[in-house]
Amino acid sequence: MLCPFCRVELVKGRATVERRYKGVRVTFLNVPAEVCTSCGEELIDEYIVDKMDYILQNIELDKDYMIIDFIKFNDLLQSKDEISVTKELQVCFA
Ligand SMILES: [Zn+2]
Repeated sequence: MLCPFCRVELVKGRATVERRYKGVRVTFLNVPAEVCTSCGEELIDEYIVDKMDYILQNIELDKDYMIIDFIKFNDLLQSKDEISVTKELQVCFA
């Protein structure tokens, strides 16, 4: 895939993504992304965005600001279903 701005080949990397959901600021760390080595543009796959939406909709947002490690979420998913992983995330990060 090429960067839409400078037509440089993108490399696989990790991005930090700020989201706002129901008035809560949520920072996702280690989000898989395609990164431009020239301008730093980060492109994130739609299914990753969907997964972030899913997490936002299912965690308990009881703080003004939360940090979620996306890698940890994916690791936990290997062995469990998404609902119990999301519950577990609340314990890890709330
Ligand atoms: Zn670029």
